[in-house]
Amino acid sequence: MTTCAVFAPARVNLIGEHTDYSGGLVLPVAVDLGMTVAGWLDEGAIRLRSLAFSEPVELDCNGAPRGPLAGWGRYVAAVAQLLDEHGRPPVGFDGTISSTVPIGAGLSSSAALTVSVGLALCRVADFELPPLGLARIAQAAEHLAVGVPCGLMDPATSLLSRRGHALLLDCGSEEHRFVPLPPGLAIVVLDSGVRHELEHSGYADRRAELERCIAAIGGRNPASLTVAQAEAEAEAAGVDDVAARRLRHVVSENERVRKCVAALEQPGGPDLKALGALFRESHESLRSDFEVSTPELDRLVDLAYESGAIAARMTGGGFGGSIVALAEAGRAPSLVAAVTTGYAASVDREATGYICASVDGAGDVEPGSVED
Ligand code: ADP
Ligand code: MG
Repeated sequence: MTTCAVFAPARVNLIGEHTDYSGGLVLPVAVDLGMTVAGWLDEGAIRLRSLAFSEPVELDCNGAPRGPLAGWGRYVAAVAQLLDEHGRPPVGFDGTISSTVPIGAGLSSSAALTVSVGLALCRVADFELPPLGLARIAQAAEHLAVGVPCGLMDPATSLLSRRGHALLLDCGSEEHRFVPLPPGLAIVVLDSGVRHELEHSGYADRRAELERCIAAIGGRNPASLTVAQAEAEAEAAGVDDVAARRLRHVVSENERVRKCVAALEQPGGPDLKALGALFRESHESLRSDFEVSTPELDRLVDLAYESGAIAARMTGGGFGGSIVALAEAGRAPSLVAAVTTGYAASVDREATGYICASVDGAGDVEPGSVED
């Protein structure tokens, strides 16, 4: 029996938020939360179960649904159909998905799903795609399945990442390289408990607002502009204030990614103070110019800095979800405790903390390591 088991990690974006879909820079990390798909070749159909949902998914081997699909089945069908269009032999698969990624928390459970399922379907059919090829299919699958016009960052991070490093990805040229993370630094995620589903959030509106402004300034890539140039171009083109602020966020955020990389790679050792200031500016820009933060995320960021974080900002698409904080590894547990206590006292909600390690991108795992 041909068996297969793959793991696709979730991602935490360190900086470069809402820059990917305009061809900008991002600096994410794959972390040790993720999705495992394990199963075996099935002659007649693609059958998948998820431990997180009661309804199984059943498709023809080319991805055609065998009945009405809701929820997560739409992502699976979209991945299978797009792989079929890209030449995957119509081989069936019977598998189970188990996940440690919180849903809607801004860690991209949706990309962990499309990547893990895509990889499993490739493996079982002995079909190889380059990692960025599969990332583009996973990205397109999310568009097709739920109409979320997400960028390349999430699936690319899940596929390309390297342990101990952040991934610097230029989403325009698709060039990428790895930036070493300082040893002894913990990546702390604090989930606000406020849920978004990108399908129903303002994500698509933000993208449309930004694109309106980019079109008005002649289609220039925001990553090629300085803030002063962007402001001058927006004014000359007569764009409205909202669109101009969306553009200013993206232009300034691309600059912050470059500065963060320089701070991490500083010859004398990482400049953690600069990282702290850049994360703060990023959060402020997402709050006031891009307007995707929430009062809960703002509170978590303030609490993280007050509790000794080196750097903190909202991470992911926003409208709820999580913040990322960087802290000395030894101080991470007390940071989580202080922030969650302060959060419960001030917003009357529970925040959940995850102390994450960076991991390699998606790949095979031992079938025995999967719960079923
Ligand atoms: P996120 O920020 O976590 O990516 P999204 O709204 O983009 O949030 O995607 C969440 C969707 O991904 C869920 O509604 C579900 O359809 C799918 N998903 C997430 N985790 C799982 C899982 N364990 N099993 C099956 N589908 C999942
Ligand atoms: Mg998602």
